[in-house]
Amino acid sequence: TQAALVESEKLASLGQLAAGMAHEINNPIAFVTNNLAVLRRDLGEIVALVDKYEETRQYIREAPPGLMDELAQIESDCDFSWLRDHLPELLRSSNDGLSRVRDIVNNLRDFARLDQATQDDVDLGRAITTTVEVLRHEIDEKQIHIDTDLQPVPTFLGRGDKINHVLYNVLLNAIQASPEGASLKIRLSPLPEAARIEVEDSGSGMDSETLGRVFEPFFTTKPVGTGTGLGMSVSYGIVRDHGGTMSLESQLNCGTTVTIDLPLASARSSKSESPA
Ligand code: ADP
Repeated sequence: TQAALVESEKLASLGQLAAGMAHEINNPIAFVTNNLAVLRRDLGEIVALVDKYEETRQYIREAPPGLMDELAQIESDCDFSWLRDHLPELLRSSNDGLSRVRDIVNNLRDFARLDQATQDDVDLGRAITTTVEVLRHEIDEKQIHIDTDLQPVPTFLGRGDKINHVLYNVLLNAIQASPEGASLKIRLSPLPEAARIEVEDSGSGMDSETLGRVFEPFFTTKPVGTGTGLGMSVSYGIVRDHGGTMSLESQLNCGTTVTIDLPLASARSSKSESPA
């Protein structure tokens, strides 16, 4: 059943992730589509005018009366100043939109680390910045200010995809608990034989009953359909599987700090090698 829990939480988080991604991707695509529609319309007009000009040249050869009026009309139709003024901006924002899509896809790839099913060196600082980018839509929507203090720590031996999953769950909870415009502090610091990650929000906080049940599978205070109640329990399991600890400090209406300590490989192997 533990495996089933992990699987269903993975699916729930993937669903949230996919919804966020879809939102993020739709915006730049809308830009590009819009810009291209404008360009197609204006370029169509140019082609029609060139055709008309060709026709008029033919006309000039036959020199009918009223020729000068026709030419004056074409001249006034040939006002492309709007397009000339806006073309660079249209092309630039199309380009920005496509770059954004590229970044999102890269982030998603880094985040999922689909190629990394076994233990590997995890750059915890990079894992944090990647997860922040993956949650960019939620962060911007609530105008949350992210304040990061990422000190260098040795690379950590573990499952990169699982560590990303923990960071995603903890950060999403912190964002969801925060009021609009709040600040969220993320710290990464070295301990003698471990790396410490702290996520501090100034959000709703928890009463002691909630705090006591946070790691219980399916415990949620969020409305039906919003929370699965699995984020914290699954994260706790992942951190424990890496030999680490996860603890919470919270005060109702003041905020919550989640502290995750991950032991470095040397500390873990010396522990497991020592006699019982
Ligand atoms: P979910 O987020 O789906 O409810 P979790 O297991 O991630 O499930 O969290 C369980 C509960 O713990 C949440 O419903 C919420 O009440 C509480 N919680 C977790 N993180 C925070 C936080 N940063 N601030 C306030 N409450 C939190």
